[in-house]
Amino acid sequence: MASLTLANVCPWGAAPVDVLIADGTISDVVAAGTADTSGVTVDGGGLLALPGFINAHAHVDKSWWGQPWVSYGGEPTTQGRIAHERAERDKYGIPSIDGATAVLREFLRHGTTATRTHVDVDLGTGLRGIDTVRAAAAALDGAVEVEIVAFPQDGVVRRPGVLELLDQAAAAGASNIGGIDPASIDRDPVAQLDGLFEIAERRGVGIDIHLHDGGELGAFQMELIIDRTRRAGLHGRVTIAHGFALGELPAHRQAELLDELGEVGISWTTVAPAPSAPLPWRDMREREITLGLGTDGIRDLWSPYGDGDMLGIALRFAQLHRLRTDEDLTRAVRLASTGGGGFVHRPAFDLAPGARADIVLLDAENVPDALVRAPRRRLVMAGGRVVARDGEVLL
Ligand SMILES: [Zn+2]
Repeated sequence: MASLTLANVCPWGAAPVDVLIADGTISDVVAAGTADTSGVTVDGGGLLALPGFINAHAHVDKSWWGQPWVSYGGEPTTQGRIAHERAERDKYGIPSIDGATAVLREFLRHGTTATRTHVDVDLGTGLRGIDTVRAAAAALDGAVEVEIVAFPQDGVVRRPGVLELLDQAAAAGASNIGGIDPASIDRDPVAQLDGLFEIAERRGVGIDIHLHDGGELGAFQMELIIDRTRRAGLHGRVTIAHGFALGELPAHRQAELLDELGEVGISWTTVAPAPSAPLPWRDMREREITLGLGTDGIRDLWSPYGDGDMLGIALRFAQLHRLRTDEDLTRAVRLASTGGGGFVHRPAFDLAPGARADIVLLDAENVPDALVRAPRRRLVMAGGRVVARDGEVLL
């Protein structure tokens, strides 16, 4: 049995421990200095240890990371960006295995060891993007676990043939199918949602839908999603990404929706963009609405922003929601790690026995200090293997 000990680390800033690892999984956590260190031992040097970060909303297929700078050239609307991307992506070889690998390596460098990524599925690329991302994940030998959402970026019912592609993707192993602004992109919210839920129910996959539409238009679509989740029995299998409207509604309207979202087990992901309305994250917690953080696309034909660092996203979340106390700042970091477990089939992920040995070491006084400084990752372990040291990926 391949075993090793990560000695002398401070999990979540607590007293130093030794982490015992067997076959890529944490087998035990004991007080520092008490583990048998006669086998393979990695010295943790008393550093702060966090579980690997989980990027619950990414687009690893569409970045120009690793290529020369690409100046942004599209219209600043959602539709403008969609059209711009479709017109320009071939020029930059998007999607490609090298491109997706470059993004995953950058994730790894910053300590992200699992991601749920949307992958464009459309009439131009078909399902090629999914194969590309799978090949990139394999090229890194599974160091970053990748869960795929087949994502109809260019619309669903307005592009005849896309529902069939989503169906094929679900049949071929995508764990989720996506959707996008059923009202403002397809201009036929009932048709898009009925189409998506029919596939999800028949194929036994989840739904992870982008919803940018704000205010009452967004709320109306949430109601349609809630109804269909309930009817299809997809409790715990549906995610709303962004869902900006939730933060914009008057308190009574927000509370009604939160009750229903909690009841049908719809989860949420946010990239905490500034400016956007803060999410009622404490109320979501009370109703056990799972909230994950993600980077969204980084350096792509939508936007030049983003570096793939989940600590940076957690910091932005903390700032947007005006978090101040150590407890709340630590919660923000948890959202970027253990809190995202449900999005990548790791419901009970932490620095604890039974979890995949995905561990990030940082030179920080405590978790809040790590959040506000986002220091270089001193060591990243994925599946019990050291995959990055001092900011350099070793794979
Ligand atoms: Zn997205």
